[in-house]
Amino acid sequence: MAVTEPAPAVVPADRPTVAHEGILRRQSLRESAARTYARSLPIVPVRARGLTIEGADGQRYLDCLSGAGTLALGHNHPVVLEAIKKVIDSGAPLHVLDLATPVKDAFTTELFETLPGPLADNARVQFCGPAGTDAVEAALKLVRTATGRSGLLAFTGAYHGMTAGALDVSGGASDVRVTRLPYPYGYRCPFGTGGERGADLSARWTANLLDDPKGGVPRPAGMILEAVQGEGGVIPAPDSWLRRMREITAARSIPLIVDEVQTGVGRTGTFWAVEHSGTVPDVMVMSKAIGGSLPLAVIVYRADLDAWEPGAHAGTFRGNQLAMAAGAATMAYVRENGLAQRAGELGARMLGQLRQLAAEHPVIGDVRGRGLMIGVELVDPEGPVGTGGFGDGGPGAGPAPASPALAAAVQQECLRRGLIVEVGGRHSAVVRLLPPLTLTDEQAVAVLDRFADALATAERSSYGQEQRGQKKYHREPIKTS
Ligand code: PMP
Repeated sequence: MAVTEPAPAVVPADRPTVAHEGILRRQSLRESAARTYARSLPIVPVRARGLTIEGADGQRYLDCLSGAGTLALGHNHPVVLEAIKKVIDSGAPLHVLDLATPVKDAFTTELFETLPGPLADNARVQFCGPAGTDAVEAALKLVRTATGRSGLLAFTGAYHGMTAGALDVSGGASDVRVTRLPYPYGYRCPFGTGGERGADLSARWTANLLDDPKGGVPRPAGMILEAVQGEGGVIPAPDSWLRRMREITAARSIPLIVDEVQTGVGRTGTFWAVEHSGTVPDVMVMSKAIGGSLPLAVIVYRADLDAWEPGAHAGTFRGNQLAMAAGAATMAYVRENGLAQRAGELGARMLGQLRQLAAEHPVIGDVRGRGLMIGVELVDPEGPVGTGGFGDGGPGAGPAPASPALAAAVQQECLRRGLIVEVGGRHSAVVRLLPPLTLTDEQAVAVLDRFADALATAERSSYGQEQRGQKKYHREPIKTS
C-alpha cells in the first residue's frame, strides 16, 4: 500500500513554538492533577510515523515509550492504517456492542492462531471493554465465579491497572482478600540471594503458605502474575520460577492468570511471554498491542472455566471494530514477519550494549529485560546499602539505594536529545525502553547513543549539585499506566 502522509499539522507553520507553548499552558490550566506522562514529557505530538514523533514545535523525537508498550509496529504503520481505512470504506457499523461481525470473526481467528497450543485447542474469549484494567477485572471475576472462592494470590511490585479489583492485585494495595507473595526480583531480592536461588525461595514460600493449615491463606480463586513485570521495573521472572508457579497452582486446583497486557504480541521475544517457559496459563489477559494502537482488551481462558452467567461481564464498548481490524493486522504482521524473534535478538544486543555502559557508570545498578522490554535501574552508588531488598540491612549487604532523582534527570536529558523514554519501577528509578518491534539496527544505535549521552550529562550535573548539598532534580513517584 502507498504510504500516505499523516494529516497536516494543526499548528500554523510560521508560529510553531507559540502554538506549542499555548497548548501546553492550557493543558496545565485545564487538565487534572492526576495527569501523568504529560508532566515529564511536555511535548505536543502532531505527526508520527514508525519510531518518530514530530512535536508542534517542529522537534522530532525517537519514541521509545510507544504508548506505554502499545505500538508493536510503531506509529501509523501502513498495514494498520490500511486495515482501519478498509473498515471505514466498507460501510460496516463502527459500534456493534458484542454482536458478531466479519471483522470480529477475523480478529478472533488471528488471535487464536497465536495462542499456546493447549489453550488454543480449547479456549474461550471474552471481549472486555477498552482497557487492560477491564480485562483484569473480568479475569478476577471469571475465576471467582468458576471456583466459588474469593481470595487471590498476587505479587509484590505487580501492576494490573487502575480499577478497584486491578488495584487490589497491584503492588501498592492492601486488600484483605489478596495474599501478597514475593516476586523474584533478583536485583533487590527479598531473600538477599538473587538469581535462581531467590526465585526458588519465592516458590517455596508460595507453596508452603498454601499448604500450611495455619498459614492464614484459605484456598484462593486464582493467582495473577506478569511474566515480566513492566511498571514494577522491567523484571523478568526466571522461566523455572514461572513453571513452578504453574505446578504449584495446578496441583492445588488454583487457576493461573497471566497478565500479558504489556508483554504480549512479540515484545519479549516470543509472541506471548509465557512461551519462553512453555507455561500454559488458565487465563490470559491481553490488551495494548492487540488493538493495533486503538483500545481493545480481552481475556482468553480454558473453556471449562466458562461458568459465569450471560451479562456477568458486560460493557458498551466491547465491539470496537476499528481496533479489531487494526489489532488483527498488527498480530498478523508480527507473526508473518518474525518480529518476536527479531525483538528477542535486537533486545539481547541492546542489553549487552547497556551492560557495557553499566561497566563505565556506577550509577547503573542493574540492566535487565527481555526482548524489547528493557530497563536500566539507576542507583546512588555512594548511598547506604540494604539487605539486598529495600531495608537497612547493615554493612555490605545488597545493592545501592535507587535514585529516582537521577532517573528523572536522565529522562529529561533524553528528551532534550530527542529521545522519549519511560521511567518506572518501585522507586521510579528505572529508565524503561519499549521501542516498536520494527526498530532497525540503525535506530537502535541512535537510541543508545542518545541514552548514553543523556546519562553522562545527568550523572555529571546531579553529582555536581549533590556535592553542593542540593538535589537538582526532584520528582515524586508518579503512577503510570
Ligand atoms: N496490566 C499490565 C501488565 C499493564 O502493564 C497495564 C498498563 N500498563 C495494565 C494491566 C492496565 O492497562 P490499562 O492502562 O489499559 O488499563
